[in-house]
Amino acid sequence: MFAIKRKLKLNKFESSLMAQHAGFSRFVYNYGLNLFWQSIDVKASDSKRIKEIKKCFTNITKNRPEYQWTLNLSSTVYQSAFQNLKQAFIRWRQGISKAPTFKTKKDGQSFTVYNCNGLSLVSAGKKIKLPALGTFRLQEKLKESYVSQTFTISKQADGWYVSFCVNAERIPPIMHEVVEPVGIDLGIKTFATISDNTTLVAPKPYKEALSKLGRFQYHNRNKQFGNRKKGILTSNNAKKYFQKLARRHQRIANKRIDFLHKTTTKICKKYAHVIIEDLNVLGMIANSKLSRAVSDLGFYEFRRQLEYKAPTFGTKLDIVDRWYPSSKQCRICKQKNDTLKLSDRVFVCINPECHHIEDRDLHAALNLAQVSEEHISSRVGTIRK
Ligand SMILES: [Zn+2]
Repeated sequence: MFAIKRKLKLNKFESSLMAQHAGFSRFVYNYGLNLFWQSIDVKASDSKRIKEIKKCFTNITKNRPEYQWTLNLSSTVYQSAFQNLKQAFIRWRQGISKAPTFKTKKDGQSFTVYNCNGLSLVSAGKKIKLPALGTFRLQEKLKESYVSQTFTISKQADGWYVSFCVNAERIPPIMHEVVEPVGIDLGIKTFATISDNTTLVAPKPYKEALSKLGRFQYHNRNKQFGNRKKGILTSNNAKKYFQKLARRHQRIANKRIDFLHKTTTKICKKYAHVIIEDLNVLGMIANSKLSRAVSDLGFYEFRRQLEYKAPTFGTKLDIVDRWYPSSKQCRICKQKNDTLKLSDRVFVCINPECHHIEDRDLHAALNLAQVSEEHISSRVGTIRK
């Protein structure tokens, strides 16, 4: 069981409706409490006395001309108010809290409504239907649909909130397959190399489709997009061609996004602690030789997705600053090898006593996995939303 609380987005009329109901709830609570203390000599249990007072309110007081205003408001509000009063007495008798006192506007305005016919459906989206009150807009949307019977509306400093309980488990506990921290090295040749020696190879849709696309563009090289200033009209065939071209580009982009989503989800599910490098993606794109490969692979998107998925899966994500020499420094003896070029696929330690030799990407990933605290520039928490 967990509670959901959302801020309501109300106009003036709706806010005043909420204030009226809160006032009604407070009025009923104080009315009941007043009669309770007056009937102190009655030898009956608390709940029985409250029941009698409620009867009195429903059959006599509510019908008096000066209480006509209560007829326009939801009756579940006063039922709930009596319920609250009963609970307050139970808590007092059990010694949990002090004796109930009269409520004032300062104590905070709130009231409870419920569906008399059972559970009501709260649909996903930016609106909420409250029993007897109507439909209201929400500040933040509900991601899923829920069922609940009782809704409490309360006023806080910045406006009105609704809260309700859902009788379900939030997220099943996630068990990560790998608990030890792992480093992930992103590269051009292999998309990602993980320090447990797993490699993820990206489909290179752009490269594959490039020759086809190039031929397609070459065959249509004379087609012109219209230009009103120059008085050039777009031919129907040219229109068709540009639409087709756009669709092809879209398909390539979709493939890439699909790969990234699957990969980032897989990583977050499997590993409890992930360490990645803060890549200078813009710098890499500026290098014309690398630019197409890099933008094709979507390193930036990869990181963005990891950052927002990690909290949901309870994964810790550390980002290492870009000055950490993960590929150039030997992970065994800490000797830096500045002669290492981007084209070198194997790391060779220049320290003659060490002479460590390892696959370049795996070496970098292992270096990331053992990074010290001072190189971590940002950390995405493990709080589940
Ligand atoms: Zn070494």
